[in-house]
Amino acid sequence: MYINGKWIEKGIDEVVVRNPANGEVVGRVAKVGKEEVEEAIEAANAAFKTWSKLPAIERSNYMYRVAEIMRERKEDLARTGTLEMGKALADMRGEVQIAIDYVQWYAEEGRRVYGETIPTNAANKRVSVIKQPIGVVGAITPWNFPVSMITRKISPALAAGCTVVVKPASQSPLSAKLIFEIFEEAGIPAGVVNLVLGDAREVSEAMLKSTKVKKISFTGSTEVGKKLMAGGAETVKKMSLELGGHAPYIVFEDADLDLAVDGLVSGKFRCAGQTCVCMNRVYVQESVIEAFSEKLVEKVSALKIGNGLDSATNVGPLVDQKGVEKSEEHVKDAVSKGAKVLVGGQRPQQPEFANGSFYEPTVLANVDETMLISYEETFGPVAPIFTFKTEEEVIEKANNTPYGLASYFYTNDLSRSHRVAEQLEFGIVGVNDSLPITAAVPFGGIKESGNGKEGGHHGMEEYLIEKLISVRLQD
Ligand code: NAP
Repeated sequence: MYINGKWIEKGIDEVVVRNPANGEVVGRVAKVGKEEVEEAIEAANAAFKTWSKLPAIERSNYMYRVAEIMRERKEDLARTGTLEMGKALADMRGEVQIAIDYVQWYAEEGRRVYGETIPTNAANKRVSVIKQPIGVVGAITPWNFPVSMITRKISPALAAGCTVVVKPASQSPLSAKLIFEIFEEAGIPAGVVNLVLGDAREVSEAMLKSTKVKKISFTGSTEVGKKLMAGGAETVKKMSLELGGHAPYIVFEDADLDLAVDGLVSGKFRCAGQTCVCMNRVYVQESVIEAFSEKLVEKVSALKIGNGLDSATNVGPLVDQKGVEKSEEHVKDAVSKGAKVLVGGQRPQQPEFANGSFYEPTVLANVDETMLISYEETFGPVAPIFTFKTEEEVIEKANNTPYGLASYFYTNDLSRSHRVAEQLEFGIVGVNDSLPITAAVPFGGIKESGNGKEGGHHGMEEYLIEKLISVRLQD
């Protein structure tokens, strides 16, 4: 752990990190308690006084240096992520690239935090609005994007002038440690960024109770997000919550079916289906269901599962056995209610997978709304196919979920593309686009998928306060 510019090698306990591909121990990390979290908050609070006063260009220069070192250590970051959470190396390399993009983009954006001047009714008044950093930020991140979820929070925070205490997920502390080594190497002053791994409840409680922590930025499950929101009420904390999703993926009969199949295969099976934006409900219009399913099965059957470090692997293991059990439960429940397995549908049987947490890439047909998979997030490599008749019907079905993160649809009809995009109740809509995310765009959900944005100039606002200054001139 890294507190006030110093590494803590020994904590009250340790986390043992295992490679989900084979169960081998790949690292051990010190776990700290409430006292160290409070120490980190104090350090961040003290550092805020100087970091927030630096000219934006100086903060940017530190961040450019971070981006440069990350580029030099790209392969190291990618391999570490794969080792601890399993995703295929090609996916992990893509993640590291976007993680660097966040640092670079916000290094640039930090220099463009403009205010406003507002004309008033009174001739003797001058009114302006300035933007200032909110203060110390508590950031809690998940394991499924072990590198980019950290830089997606830290980059706008640092650029805005905030200081940060990060708690990474217990299943991916090694990537976090590596990122903090890079911060140290880049010369980020002591206390500006702090890393604490500990009991999730204890750490978050210390953050929520502290009046010095002005904002919480959380990415993870809706269940935990709700708890944090309730816990933050006492100190009226500003909250950004990036929570779970249940994305619809709609294929209209006028769509380019090959494009729609490719989009689904890359979006659904990336990271073994463990992404918040991955497709949970595939709706295919009746007249093209057979052609679509045939093409999909062909592509999914060709996916190779294996150790993420093996260059031939397309789909790595799930993060742990609990993840495998969830996919298994969803498939069993669906099949017992009439769904048909078109491909996959079980753990791989070959001996080389025996010690890992693998599940075969799976496609289910004849899925309906009575099945668990139609309303619970699977977080695994299972694509369930529903059919629909009309545009009106599918929009209603797609919106029938408490989640509102990502949604996708495929069509070649221009009018339909606008009509449907406007009616989908999700923070992100991909039209013929299964990967609509870059550092420059506002990523975030609505409904129970959370609030706040990450990415783009919108993401910067999350770390700023607006202050009205009214000056009455003397006669
Ligand atoms: P999770 O259980 O909510 O864990 C996420 C983080 O919260 C981890 O650091 C975890 O720490 C911590 N945590 C767990 N229980 C907590 C508690 N009671 N109080 C405070 N913190 C707590 O989520 P997950 O299963 O690891 O991640 C998958 C979920 O994240 C999915 O629902 C996915 O959709 C969502 N997600 C959303 C986005 C987005 O941008 N919207 C992106 C990625 C993932 P420990 O690891 O120490 O338990």
